[in-house]
This record gives sequence, structure tokens and C-alpha cells, in this order.
Amino acid sequence: MGNPVAKGLRVGAADALSLNRWWGPVSSPTVPLIVQKFGGTSVANAERIHRAARRAIRAKLEGKQVVLVVSAMGHTTDELLKLAGEVSADPPKRELDMLLTTGEQVSIALMAMAIHAAGHEAISLTGAQLGLLTDSVHTRARIQRISRERIDRELAAGRIVIVAGFQGIDAGGEITTLGRGASDTTAAALASVLGAEICEIYTDVDGVYTTDPRLVPQARKIDRISYDTMLEMAAAGAAVMHSRAIEFGKKYRVPIHVRSSLTDAPGTLIMTETKGMEDAAVQGVTLKQDLASITLAGVPNRPGMAARIFSAIAAKNVLVDDIVQNVYDDGRQANLTFSVSAADLAEAKRICADLVREMNLSGMSVDDGVAKVSAIGVGMRTASGVASTMFSALAEGGVNIHNISTSEIVLSCLVRREDGPRALQLVHDAFGLHVAP
Ligand code: ASP
Ligand code: MG
Repeated sequence: MGNPVAKGLRVGAADALSLNRWWGPVSSPTVPLIVQKFGGTSVANAERIHRAARRAIRAKLEGKQVVLVVSAMGHTTDELLKLAGEVSADPPKRELDMLLTTGEQVSIALMAMAIHAAGHEAISLTGAQLGLLTDSVHTRARIQRISRERIDRELAAGRIVIVAGFQGIDAGGEITTLGRGASDTTAAALASVLGAEICEIYTDVDGVYTTDPRLVPQARKIDRISYDTMLEMAAAGAAVMHSRAIEFGKKYRVPIHVRSSLTDAPGTLIMTETKGMEDAAVQGVTLKQDLASITLAGVPNRPGMAARIFSAIAAKNVLVDDIVQNVYDDGRQANLTFSVSAADLAEAKRICADLVREMNLSGMSVDDGVAKVSAIGVGMRTASGVASTMFSALAEGGVNIHNISTSEIVLSCLVRREDGPRALQLVHDAFGLHVAP
């Protein structure tokens, strides 16, 4: 047999980000095809594996071709990582991928056995067997191409195909992983390549909420949400889904249904924006808690300064959140304030200390106790009064705003970390998110 990845659809170098270079058009299968992804908690034990298997079989009996994507059981990935840490302070990333991919190999095999035990045909496939080609960046590889050949053959033979989540193979035959939580991305990418009618994400929550229900008890499940709002909510701290998965859904217009594996109740449909979605200006509010902000003072106000500073930071892979620049001294100098995650603070401080020296800036100050509250919704594009509602709510609650940033569908305020949860509640109340629109 030839190279399994030689034929198929090219996904592009930065998977979800440049998906416009397929080898061919995405074909719509003649038999409706569904991708179902089961997360770690949904396959945590034999009983849950049977439950997931029954769901897949039900879809098959309804006349669909079924592709399952499965995560490692329960906390397996965390446990494997812990084990690696006990053996080595700095495990080679190639070997980490060898180790972590075993978690998914266990669950796909068990899932296939469970389906067989129920009297149906199924086959499990690793990323390599399937021909899910990635780049060679171990532990955070990007999908480049997915071969349809094997999957098509197995589906044509009437089998349920079970694919190991979050793993692939590079051009040199090395096993790679796509980053923590990326089984979602495997599922959405497969749904895109195969022209699935829907990508179902089965998880331990029953959908996407207006905010974190652990912080705001009145949080409400959202029935439908646009890809764009969901992407912004994920970026602003909502930990529901891997955002690369949402990018795939958006690009190939595959609806993604996030739902509970324990019930039949519908969850949240992430889909193309419809008119009705614009009715409410704000659909969700999020809180990012562990942020720190850094201010560089005395930055000369001339071309190239910001480029130099943020290139130095990007070179060390530190992600910068919001950036605010204030010009003073009759326009000659500026203060540049930006936020980073608290985990990146030490590295960011090192880089900035070097910059202060090299660029002869007047200094730097650090605030390591900030949080960001964001209000998000595509309806914001056309609504007015969103900012005044949010600012008034915070003011009435006595929460001081340190920084404000906006984009087309996001309005964010930096607040003191200890004010974060209260600020979230205030903003959720102010937009009446506990009431269905
Ligand atoms: N098992 C992997 C992880 O925990 C991938 C996934 O579950 O999405 O990150
Ligand atoms: Mg997950």
C-alpha cells in the first residue's frame, strides 16, 4: 500500500488558520455522516464507554455513517504527564508524544470492543493509521492534511470508525500531539474533511453557559451561539472548547453541538450567525483571573518602538492580551501597558528588563493582581449603550476599572483580581443574561 497520507485533502500549514488550500473541494457524502466526540469524562469507565457506544450505534441505526473521536479515559493524560515528570525534569517532547498518545489508543480500542460486544461493526484507528498528517512541532502540532482513504473504506464496509483524538503523524513518520484538549480539534477537522452534517461534542457539561455557573449561579445555558461569539468567549476565558475546533467549524460551516453525554437533552449549537442572534447585544460574559499587567514608561513616541517591544516578547512565545498606549510629554513619549497571563509574568519581566536597558526607557512597573471581565456578543456590532451599561454596573458595585479594551464584538475591563467574581456577577445582571432572550 502506498503512503496513507499521499492522497487526501490538504488543510494548510497552520491548521485552522489557513484552511483555504485544500487539495479538492469538500465533498458531501451521499449518506449523511455524523462525527461524535467523547471527552475524557464521557469514557472514564466501562459503563460510560458502553453508554457512548450505544449513542453511536443509535446514530448508525438511524441511517448515518458514524465517525467517533475519543479522548483518553478520565484523567489519564494528566496522570501520564505526572509520571513523565517523575522520571525526568525535562522530558524530550518527542517522547512525551509517544507517551500521551497511548491514552487515546486505550480508549479507541475499548470503544471498538464495546461496539462489537453490542453486535455492531467498528474499527479503531490511531492518527497514524488514519493518515492525519501534522507538522513536526511535538506537543503542539498543527494539522496539515487528513487522508480520507482509510476512513472512506471502513465506512463503506459498514463500520463505525473510531479515531484517536489529539494525535497525528508528521512527514517523517513521527507521532505528534496537537495540544491539550485538542481532541475537539481532531473531531471538527474530520467533520470538515468528511463533509459531516454535524460535529457533536459530548462532554460533562450540558452546553455553553452565559458565564461560569460556578461563579454566577444564575448563569443560563445558551441554545444557539455564533462561531464568532464562541471564539471570543473561548479566547476571553470560557474553557468549554478548544478554539481551533471552532475555527474549523466556522471555516467549513459545520455546526458543532456541545452537549452532555449523560442525557439526551439538546445542548448548545455553535453555528453560522442568524438574524435572531443579533437581538441580544451581549450573549456571554467571561472572567480571566490570572492576569498581570506590565507598564513600560518613557517609550519614545516614534515609529518602530512598539514593533521592537512586541517582537521581543513574541520571540519568547509570551502571549500578550490587551495593549494600551498613553502618550504624554507633548507627544514625545508614551507609556505602554499590556497584560499577560500570570504564568508568563516571570518571562515577560525578564524580556522587559532587557528592553528597558537596551532602549533606554525610563522604567517598568508590574501589577500582578489583575483580572479581566469581558462582555461578548455579535449583537454588539449594531447595539448602542453596551459600554455605558457595563461601566455603570461596575461603578454602582464599587468596582474600579483599570483599563478598557474593545473590539467589534468584545468589551473588556481590567479590574483588581479580588473584584473579578463580583464584577462578573454585576455585568451578568446588568445585561439580564439570566433571562432567556
Ligand atoms: N487527552 C488529551 C488531553 O487531555 C486530549 C483531549 O482530551 O482533548 O489534553
Ligand atoms: Mg476537552
